[in-house]
Amino acid sequence: MSNNPHARRGLMLVISSPSGAGKTTLSRMLLDRHQDMGLSVSATTREPRPGEEDGVHYHFIDRAEFERRVSNREFLEWARVFDHFYGTPREAVEERLAAGHDVIFDVDWQGADAIHDQMPNDVVSVFVLPPSMDALQKRLELRPGSTPEKVERRMAGARNEIRHWRRYDYVIVNENLDTAYSELETILRSERRKRLRQFNLEQLVQDLLDED
Ligand code: 5GP
Repeated sequence: MSNNPHARRGLMLVISSPSGAGKTTLSRMLLDRHQDMGLSVSATTREPRPGEEDGVHYHFIDRAEFERRVSNREFLEWARVFDHFYGTPREAVEERLAAGHDVIFDVDWQGADAIHDQMPNDVVSVFVLPPSMDALQKRLELRPGSTPEKVERRMAGARNEIRHWRRYDYVIVNENLDTAYSELETILRSERRKRLRQFNLEQLVQDLLDED
């Protein structure tokens, strides 16, 4: 353990939102501006899509390897989505937290719940809401490759995701991206200063009290 009085344990920033409300954009902004933060990279049994890189977008593994990792308890949480399996590796997250680095999780409410169950003291959860369903629909329509059917499906999914907003520690309404980002950073700054995350304060305070 370091002697740096400012040393702290990293936190797990779990960000959820209906698709189109901005969680991926906000996560990318955080990663760009905070070089010490990392994104949790999940393992999956599905095939890589064009442009996806192993170890960057996902760790691509086969079904037997996935099952081995499940029985070894190597995942913080895992789920079956359609025909494929997805899991959050436990060790990579633990190492980063212990080194004082924050880890971002861009997950849906079920993933957020499961991660919180495993490591409740490390999780800070943020839900991002759109300002209106109309605004959400417009954002979805602007996505490349959007079709009326896809937009309709995503809007139904969005209503379902929004119903779970009460499970989160913080809620941000993303009407203006810069404002939403600045609110997210404020949450991060405050949570980093939580007493329990600053494990070297005991020593600093002792030294302060020992000084005349
Ligand atoms: P895709 O195959 O399109 O990348 O992801 C399909 C779904 O799997 C998405 O809803 C995504 O959020 C979810 N997913 C990706 N990684 C994980 C994970 O580690 N755990 C869980 N529970 N879901 C995941």
